[in-house]
Amino acid sequence: MFSYRHAFHAGNHADVLKHTTLIALMKYLTQKDTALTVIDTHAGAGLYRLDGDYTETSGEAQEGIFKLLSGSKVAPAQAQRAPAAPKPIAKSANPATSKGAAVKPAVAPDGWAPALQDYIDVLRGLNPQFAESGDVAHLKIYPGSPFIEQQFLSGRDKLKLFELHPTDYKSLSGNIEQLGVGRQVAVSREDGFEALKVFLPPPARRAMVLCDPSYEMKSDYGRVATCMADAVKRFATGTYVVWYPIIPRPEAHDLPRKLKTLAVKAGRSWLNAALTVKSSKLTTDTSGEVVRPGLPASGMFVINPPHTLKAALQAALPQMVALLGQDRNAGFTLEHGG
Ligand code: SAM
Repeated sequence: MFSYRHAFHAGNHADVLKHTTLIALMKYLTQKDTALTVIDTHAGAGLYRLDGDYTETSGEAQEGIFKLLSGSKVAPAQAQRAPAAPKPIAKSANPATSKGAAVKPAVAPDGWAPALQDYIDVLRGLNPQFAESGDVAHLKIYPGSPFIEQQFLSGRDKLKLFELHPTDYKSLSGNIEQLGVGRQVAVSREDGFEALKVFLPPPARRAMVLCDPSYEMKSDYGRVATCMADAVKRFATGTYVVWYPIIPRPEAHDLPRKLKTLAVKAGRSWLNAALTVKSSKLTTDTSGEVVRPGLPASGMFVINPPHTLKAALQAALPQMVALLGQDRNAGFTLEHGG
């Protein structure tokens, strides 16, 4: 237990999907006048260095955020909002699904999808030199979900963060303290699956929950499904957001199906977005050694999504595929119901 450290994975393709979706959700949900409670059950360290030992060792950000940005030109701050950007991939027969999309990013003048533009703007906010120059070499700091969520809050909103790893809890507490936002953000070293119960329903009856475990233990898959079922029972109208890996493992395949069944049975709307960047097949290198492909795909399952989310992802996912896709298996799916 606890060998997972998100610092090795910060800024990878799964984070691009997760954080683009999270920003679209936060942007919409914080527009209303009533207070919002945001609960992040698996918060991580909050901030990561993209030039630090962990990220450089894993190289995952190279296949994520750096690949996304270097496939197109990011305009410097002065010329912002209309940088040269990836050309959307050709429409497939089913407009919500694309497999085998163009792997080579094409640059076109039609701009980033708004959700990706918002994601890049968040990165700009944390990296002034990157914002000024547009040069990805100056992209040094990557925000985890707590920092993304906090940025969108207004005075009446609250953020509850849970992180069990002792080192990441310490980093998270320190990073949040530096923000000087006082009691608006609470950090606890508790089991996020269990702690969630206490906060539902929230005082103003508006909440968004992000459940983003490491799935280091097989039992996490079952715990996510149980925790979400319990949460929907306690507070049916909350927005529940689950990140999940798409890997050849029965529990991983079952999880989005279980979440869909749960949403349908509870009469709630749902959305499921998945991004594949490469094949999940094992390969062999020149010496005959078996090479594991690393994470090939991941998904975001949202119960009670805002009505704007589908369109936001419909525009952003083809650009992610075009820029992050590594082979002919690259593609996306976007389903919704309710
Ligand atoms: N949500 C973060 C983000 O997007 O930046 C990344 C979170 S990372 C995938 C999962 C985190 O959950 C790890 O830091 C791990 O230590 C922590 N964790 C594992 N089990 C937990 C539990 N039961 N409750 C709270 N945190 C847990």
